[in-house]
Amino acid sequence: MKRLSLLVLVAAGCASAPPPAPSSPAPKAAAAAPAPTPPGIDAAAMDLSVNPCDDFYQYACGNWLKATPIPPDRSTWGRGFDVIEERNQQILKEILEAAAEGKAPPGTPYAKQLGDYYATCMDESKLDNALPELRTVLRKIDRLATSRQVAEEVARLHDAGANVLFAYGSGQDYRDATQVIGIVEQGGLGLPDREYYLSDSPKMKEIREGYRAYVAQMFGLLGDAPAVAAKKADQVLEFETKLAQASLDRVSRRDPDKVYHRTDPKALVRSAPGFDWSRYFAAEGTPGVQALNVTHPPFAAEVGQLVRRAPRAQLRTYLSWRLISSQVIALPKQFSDASFAFRSKYLTGAKEDLPRWKKCVAATDLGLGEALAVPFINQTFGPDGKKVTKSMVEQIESAFQANLDTLPWMDPTTKERAREKARAVFDKIGYPEKWKTYDGLVTDRGTFLGNRTRSMAYENARDLKKIGKPLDRALWEMTPPTVNAGYQASLNEIVFPAGILQPPFFIKDATDAVNFGAMGMVVGHELTHGFDDEGRKFDGKGNLADWWTAESGKAFVDRVECVKKQFDGYVAIDDVHVNGALTLGENVADLGGLKLAFAAMQAYAKAHPDRAPPPSRFSPEQQFFLGNAQSWCTNIRPETARLYATIDPHSPAKDRVNGPLSNLPQFEQAFGCKAGDKMVAQNRCEVW
Ligand SMILES: [Zn+2]
Repeated sequence: MKRLSLLVLVAAGCASAPPPAPSSPAPKAAAAAPAPTPPGIDAAAMDLSVNPCDDFYQYACGNWLKATPIPPDRSTWGRGFDVIEERNQQILKEILEAAAEGKAPPGTPYAKQLGDYYATCMDESKLDNALPELRTVLRKIDRLATSRQVAEEVARLHDAGANVLFAYGSGQDYRDATQVIGIVEQGGLGLPDREYYLSDSPKMKEIREGYRAYVAQMFGLLGDAPAVAAKKADQVLEFETKLAQASLDRVSRRDPDKVYHRTDPKALVRSAPGFDWSRYFAAEGTPGVQALNVTHPPFAAEVGQLVRRAPRAQLRTYLSWRLISSQVIALPKQFSDASFAFRSKYLTGAKEDLPRWKKCVAATDLGLGEALAVPFINQTFGPDGKKVTKSMVEQIESAFQANLDTLPWMDPTTKERAREKARAVFDKIGYPEKWKTYDGLVTDRGTFLGNRTRSMAYENARDLKKIGKPLDRALWEMTPPTVNAGYQASLNEIVFPAGILQPPFFIKDATDAVNFGAMGMVVGHELTHGFDDEGRKFDGKGNLADWWTAESGKAFVDRVECVKKQFDGYVAIDDVHVNGALTLGENVADLGGLKLAFAAMQAYAKAHPDRAPPPSRFSPEQQFFLGNAQSWCTNIRPETARLYATIDPHSPAKDRVNGPLSNLPQFEQAFGCKAGDKMVAQNRCEVW
C-alpha cells in the first residue's frame, strides 16, 4: 500500500461514481459594513451574530451554510473543494465533447482515445450492448473448476478493475525506498469498511440488509429468479463477511509497522495455501516477481482458505458479483439506478444521481487522466501558478525550520534529523514534468465496457511493470485537475495538482494574509504530514527507519495523545463520535499547518513592508483565520457524516477549523478571546 496522505477524502468508497457539482447560489448581500472587507474574504458568508470566540466556524461560514443547500446529486457541498471541482469538470467536459466530435483542442495528445472513451461512455442507448460481453465473462466464471483457473480468472478480473479478494500492485519497499516490489493488499469488500460487516449496531445491521437486497436486485436484473438471486446475495454476504473478519482495521492500517511484511512468492505459497499464487503472478505478467510486501499475512491466508474451502458455487457467485459491481458505469441504466439507490441515496443521502456527463468526465480522468490534463493545463494553469506555489512552499519550509528551534520537547539530535528530512522534501507542483503515454491503448466506438476494460488493463500493466525496476520519481499519483493535495511518505514528497491552485485556496487579488490562511495552510498541512504520527516513522529518503531518540519519541507520543483525546471528544453526528485515532495524522497536520502558515505570513509581512494592506475591518491576523475557515465551509448530509466517521481519516470540516484554532494562542490573540471561551482549549495541544 502506498502511504499517500491526502488533504481531503477522494472517491468515498461509496458514492456511485465521481464527486462533481451544480452551481452554488450566490450568497445574499450582508448588511453595510463599517470598513471595507479585504479582498478574498466573503463577508456575505459570515454570520456576524455569532461570537468568533464561541464558534469560529459558524462565525466565518454561518450564512453560507444557511444559504447554500447541498445540490441534489451531492452528499456534501463545500465552498472550496466542490466549487472548484465543478468548475474544473465543466472545462474537462468541453474538452471531451470537442474530442468526441474529432475537434479536440490543438495540442491534445491521444485525442482519438479521449474522444472514443467519452463518446462511448455518453451514449446510453448503446449500454445494452455491454450485456452480451458481460455474460461471456460470467459464463466463464460459472465454469471455473481448478484452482489454476480460479487464479487466472482473478488476474483477469483485477485487470478489468474489479475489487476481488485482494489487491496486487507495485510499491516501494518501506525499508528500502529505492526498491519497487509487489504489494499484496487486503480487499474484496463491497461495503465501505470491515465494520459494516462486523458491527452489531442496529444501523450497521440495517445497512447489511440493504446491501443484501441490492445484491439480489442486481442478480435479478441479469435474469435470475427472485429465489436464486436471494440465495446468491446470501452467498456474497457470507463470503465477504469472512474477508472482513480477516481484514485489518483502519486505525491499525495507519501504522506502517503493522502493514509491512516483506516476503517472497515461495513463502507466500507456504503461508497462504489454497490460492494458486504462482499462477496468479504469472497471469498478471509478473512471473519473476521476487519480493512482496504482504501487508496483512492473516488476510492472505484467509484468501487461500476461502478459495480452497468455500463451495465452488459460492466462490463463483462472489467473483461474478465483484465483476458486476465494478462495471456498473458501463452497464444499462437499470443497473446504475439500482446502484445509485443503494450506494448514493441510501448510504450517502444524495437525492439524485449524477448526470451522465459528470460520471463520464470522471471515468475519462481515471482512464486517460494525463492525456486529458494536457489541454486542461494549457487552458487553466499559467507559469504564475507554479511560481507562486513554489514560493509559498519555500516560505512554509523556512517557517518549519525556524519553528524547530522553538520546540522545547525535542532534543538537538532529533531536531537536526528533522531538519534534514524537511530539507529533503521533494515538491511536485501543478503537473508532471513528463507526461504518461498511452501508446498502444486500443479504443473504438463499440461499447464503453470494451474501452474501459482495455484501459483498466493497460493501467494495471503499467503499474505492475514497475516491479523490479528502478524507482521513477517523476510519476504522479493524482491527475492535474484533481482538487486535492498530498504527502507521500515513501517518496518524502508533497504534491499540489493544478486543480487546487485556484480560488478560494489561491486568489490572485486577495490579501497575502488570506492566501496564507487558505493555501499556506494547505502547504503547511502537507509538509507536517512528513512529521505526523505516521510520517515521522519514515526518514528523508522515504525509508521506514527510526531517526528519533527515545526521549523525543516519547515526548512526541505524549503530545499527539492530547490531539487524539481532543478529537475523540467531538461528535460527528447523533451518537457517533469523531475517531481520534483514525483522524490523528490529519489533525496533527492541520494544527501544524496552521501554525507554520501563520508564522510564514508574519515573516513575509516583515520582509515586505511595502505590501502592508490598507486598513480594513479585519486585521491581517483575522484575515488569515477567516481565509482559512472560509475555504472549509461545508454542508454535509447526515448519512454521509455517519459514513465518513467510519472511513474518512479527516475530521468533519467544522472540527478541522475549530479544533486546531482552539489550540492556537495566535487565534486567541487575533480575536481577543479569553480563557473560558469555547474557542480557547483548556488543555492546549501543540505538537509542531
Ligand atoms: Zn492530509
